[in-house]
Amino acid sequence: MKRFVLLLWLGCTGVVGAQHFNIQALKAHIKILSNDSLQGRGTGTEGERMAAAYLADEFKKLKLRPLGNNSTYFQEFTFKGGAHGEGQPGTARNIVAFLDNKAPLTVIIGAHYDHLGLGTQGGSLDANPADKIHNGADDNASGTAGVLELARYFASNRKKEKHNFLFILFSGEELGLLGSKYFAEHPTCNLQQVNYMINMDMIGRLNPGTKTVVVNGTGTSPVWEPLLKSLATENLKIKTDSSGTGPSDHTSFYLKNIPVLHFFTGSHADYHKPSDDWDKINYEGTVAVLNLIRQVIEHTDNQPRLTFLKTKSNAMAVRTTPFKVTLGVMPSYSSDEPGLKIDGVTDGRPAQKAGLQAGDLIVQLGDYEIKDISSYMEALGKFEKGQKVEVKVKRGAELLTFVVEF
Ligand SMILES: [Zn+2]
Repeated sequence: MKRFVLLLWLGCTGVVGAQHFNIQALKAHIKILSNDSLQGRGTGTEGERMAAAYLADEFKKLKLRPLGNNSTYFQEFTFKGGAHGEGQPGTARNIVAFLDNKAPLTVIIGAHYDHLGLGTQGGSLDANPADKIHNGADDNASGTAGVLELARYFASNRKKEKHNFLFILFSGEELGLLGSKYFAEHPTCNLQQVNYMINMDMIGRLNPGTKTVVVNGTGTSPVWEPLLKSLATENLKIKTDSSGTGPSDHTSFYLKNIPVLHFFTGSHADYHKPSDDWDKINYEGTVAVLNLIRQVIEHTDNQPRLTFLKTKSNAMAVRTTPFKVTLGVMPSYSSDEPGLKIDGVTDGRPAQKAGLQAGDLIVQLGDYEIKDISSYMEALGKFEKGQKVEVKVKRGAELLTFVVEF
């Protein structure tokens, strides 16, 4: 009996001391957002509107101030179709909420909640995507749930931070960062008072082996690198990339001279495929990433306003560059090996047809040596449709040669 009481007591202190984020709430949000009934949350679709209603309701429960248009949580914008040249024009909405701590400066915490819908708006890596529901549990129900949990944490924290918080959930990201671009051009808060912006895009697949989260944008302020270095642990390693631009919404804020960070647990075989489902999420890993973000915010809370720095632009930003040919691979952004590591191959595209697999490291494409993503992009620009090209890849200890037909 005594032993039981003691265990109970220990259990309670453990929960109170360490548990800033609620794993069950996180799971519930991700399950709802990636449910088939939301039809993949395509920009401007009925499923996107259902998701938006749910998210606005969560902000309302936290008693956050609506900071969209006309005293609602919604900021509407129109779009002309996707960056991929597919899809119909329509109206989409960002969801914006404010936690007023009566502070001079504001931190923006954001994530996109739209995804690829039924695969008809472009962007799918499935061979025949049309009419398959792309649930987007990692991309980006995970980051969306992260915003909700951070909002809950900071709204219920009795020790008020010395910053206000603007929580924003973007639509139109998958069509080309449309929602964040619109907000940056039509802000509902004073951007001059924004200290920095945190973006979470795909934080649900922390690899239990490498335990590494990628943090992009660390060159946008001198505080980021030393701070993140001090927060890395054995259980959560951090790989940084300095560039302020990249294929997600923080880019829109960086381009307004605001320091940014983008948290990302890496790509995987289900990336942009109908199989990106809630049961593949690493929930403990997501909580670990949220704890890292919480610590970043708490460490900067007492510091003076962050200095903004411009960064060298990164090849990752070149997502809409028109190439005459593509291989159909998902490059890894978290590999250090010289070459182009691939996280996934698209079914029915040249790389997959030639025999390339996830995990391969491309080191040569035709006459061109591949050292990194930039040299890969440069080489790719040299080929024409129908051309046959030798590709050398490292697979484990082996060096293999394949013939790819573009
Ligand atoms: Zn995506």
